[in-house]
Amino acid sequence: MIAEKMKPFIRNNSAIRMMFEEGNRLKALYGPENVFDFSLGNPSVPAPECVKEAIIELVNEEDPLVVHGYMSNAGFEDVRQTIAGSLNRRFGTCFAAKNLIMTVGAASGLNIMLKAVVNPGEEVIVFAPYFLEYGAYVRNYDGVLVEITPDTATFQPNLTEFEEKITPKTRAVIVNSPHNPTGVVYSEETIKKLAAILEKKQKEYGTVIYLISDEPYRELAYDGVEVPYLTKYYANTVVGYSYSKSLSLPGERIGYLVIPDEVDQSEELIAAVTIANRISGAVNAPSLMQKVIAKCVDAECDVAAYDRNRQALYNGLTELGFTCIKPQGAFYLFVKSPVEDEKAFVEAGKKYNILMVPGSSFACPGYVRLAYCVSYDTIMNSLPQFAKLAKEFV
Ligand code: PLP
Repeated sequence: MIAEKMKPFIRNNSAIRMMFEEGNRLKALYGPENVFDFSLGNPSVPAPECVKEAIIELVNEEDPLVVHGYMSNAGFEDVRQTIAGSLNRRFGTCFAAKNLIMTVGAASGLNIMLKAVVNPGEEVIVFAPYFLEYGAYVRNYDGVLVEITPDTATFQPNLTEFEEKITPKTRAVIVNSPHNPTGVVYSEETIKKLAAILEKKQKEYGTVIYLISDEPYRELAYDGVEVPYLTKYYANTVVGYSYSKSLSLPGERIGYLVIPDEVDQSEELIAAVTIANRISGAVNAPSLMQKVIAKCVDAECDVAAYDRNRQALYNGLTELGFTCIKPQGAFYLFVKSPVEDEKAFVEAGKKYNILMVPGSSFACPGYVRLAYCVSYDTIMNSLPQFAKLAKEFV
């Protein structure tokens, strides 16, 4: 007999994952080159060469009892110090090793942060469209997810509704920029307004509201757009980072949380998050990967490859009559469905071996998400298929 709490999770099993399985089925039937699978945000650019070199060097030359051993639950001190130094150089911050907790990717970082601060019945605000796993993470700790409706003209957060929905029970707000699924980057102006609202509401209610910046796509930004570093704008900010996308290491499960000294009772929060890391079952982030990150801390991914894909798919689809905001970051296009029921459009796409994810999987029906972290050939070869699909709808 499974636990009651698990039943809704099973019923709502991720549409993205189901589409990924469907992609594998179609590839076995028609050959991988004839399937245009835009379903999953699995990077298509290989990890930088330094990752492979670091793994080999560490395995051959370092003490295996250290490289494969337990360490402090927050992670190796030297690794956290190296990352803190890199952040300080890039963003003018002044973090120390103690401000960083190494995590099992962004997913685990978000979970341990929520575990550390959310009491049952307390509220966590998210802006639709959003990465649907947030709902599951909040429910893990019996929190209540509060959605803000999308501003489909810009996909910047709807701050009027945001202010109205903050209550004395609001414990945290999750923002994600560059954004999955729209590719939008939140402007500095937006962040300043959002921070001012949070300050005002904290004062009004005498509460602490954490701003959790979920930023696995920070490095994937185009056209020279600035991605503001949020700790500079609001004291109670916690940053969740991951190397899944920036270094193409999603299966390795490595990331970190930053909890600056300016956060209310930061030492206590750092202690709570570190213990949450242990008792959630993760214990600590993977040891070998932590050491790899320290060696590759300033490595860059091939953003130009994603940019080429972005231009080709965006131009190709808009020329066919589809409408979509031009993304400034991440590797997704959020395309308006030409029919109200986007699931019908997704189904029609399958006839042409095009796999897309319905916007309802991001709490934003009427749109579809295309993950363009695929090969350039896949994009170019998909366009004639999109042209056939367009004839049915546009
Ligand atoms: N947050 C967002 C917005 C994501 O898109 C993803 C993964 O796609 C994650 C978090 C989880 O990332 P990780 O693989 O580092 O757990």
